[in-house]
Amino acid sequence: MRVRIQVVVESDAGEPPVVQEVATLERGPLQPEGLGLTLAEAKDLLRGVQETLVAHQVAEFVTQQVCCPDCGRPRPRKGRHEIVYRTLFGKLRLDSPRLYACPCQQRDRASASPLAELFPERTAPELTYLETKFAALMSYGLTVELLAEILPLGVELNTTAVRRHVRNVAERLEGELGAEQPHFIEGCQRDWNQLPRPDPPLTVGLDGGYVHARYPQSRTEGSFEVIVGKVLKADGDPICFAFVPNVDTKPKRRLFKALKSQGLQMNQRVEFLTDGGDTVRELPLYLAPESEHWLDWFHITMRLTVMGQMIKGLAAESSPGAKPGDDEDGRLDATSMDKQLESLKWHLWHGNVYRALQIVEDLEWDLESPAAPSERAKKLLKAVHEFRHYIEANQSSIPNYGDRYRHGEAIATSFAESTVNQVVSKRMVKKQQMRWTERGAHRLLQVRTRVLNEDLRATFQGWYPGMRTDPEPAVEEAA
Ligand SMILES: [Zn+2]
Repeated sequence: MRVRIQVVVESDAGEPPVVQEVATLERGPLQPEGLGLTLAEAKDLLRGVQETLVAHQVAEFVTQQVCCPDCGRPRPRKGRHEIVYRTLFGKLRLDSPRLYACPCQQRDRASASPLAELFPERTAPELTYLETKFAALMSYGLTVELLAEILPLGVELNTTAVRRHVRNVAERLEGELGAEQPHFIEGCQRDWNQLPRPDPPLTVGLDGGYVHARYPQSRTEGSFEVIVGKVLKADGDPICFAFVPNVDTKPKRRLFKALKSQGLQMNQRVEFLTDGGDTVRELPLYLAPESEHWLDWFHITMRLTVMGQMIKGLAAESSPGAKPGDDEDGRLDATSMDKQLESLKWHLWHGNVYRALQIVEDLEWDLESPAAPSERAKKLLKAVHEFRHYIEANQSSIPNYGDRYRHGEAIATSFAESTVNQVVSKRMVKKQQMRWTERGAHRLLQVRTRVLNEDLRATFQGWYPGMRTDPEPAVEEAA
């Protein structure tokens, strides 16, 4: 059997339809791999249809452009050049005429290239969309491989082009973000009193992570910080945002926009739960009048867990043969330290920072006492010191977690999966050799968070209304 596939182009001008053959399919005896189209045939078919369609679209447009749109006089052709336009279904070379400017026009330029001016980007928006979307989810290399496998792109797609498109999209997003402000609180108490009853509180998690730097400052500073945030509302999916603080000039605006997108109302409560890092402590100030700032319980427990493991290591080292609880002179008593740690956790859980700091001091005392402390003991002492600074720096943000928990209030945002892991690690640090510039990482994070928030397609549809897939309202034909 032979199947010939033709494209029939019917012009609006009422000229006879043009029929163009795009593919011929040959089929022998029926086999699983021969039923319907193969991927290779589908690609050929799409490329063929695309070339035919585009050739006619361009020809029609160019014909319309020959005459001056204002006075109708023909504009002589000054020359031509070829423009390359990349689409989902192949790279196209379009013949773009250069026309002399019409005498009726203000002559700021002697000639114009209407087709080239119509396509300043030279890449179909849908191709840019797919490249950006997949590059946000997987490496640039895999993105190229995936798209080349399923689309008739030809061999021309490469990681440099994908990178460039990601950069352009990210910069466009950044350009639309709006200016940074020291504070974003709108209106005054009287206005807020008149607002409708607000939704339940918004919960915001702010967390720092690290990615490997492409150009490390030194051998010890081979990475830089990334801040990731998550905004949860009582009903509906959380949304995330991220930035590289060293290069971001508008982090507060970014956070405020995320809050607004989750419906923030000025009389609504917002609870910020941060990891207690220096970079994120100041960020939530002056964004919402009714805000509270807490240290995320998850981050306290993580540090306690690490110290607990160090104490276990110490126990194994100090008494290899002894049972836990055996007390030996001059040796560190790991069992007692373990109990102190438990008590420390209990007091922090109940917001008793004063007592917690006393216990930390006791631990420091114990660890400093041996005349010849082991490496493990020194490491543990360092961790305990750091923990004391951490609790001191964040003491005004340590609530009674137990109380909040019993009242169903947020104490952490990261129990299910760390936002840093979801937003940053899965794409940017899973391989040791993945290295980033600060700007490159910041840009990729802008598109990645859009993709994770399932917002990238809508963004493109806003830029290119023709990408909307909802059915267009039917146009009534004039009788
Ligand atoms: Zn004219």
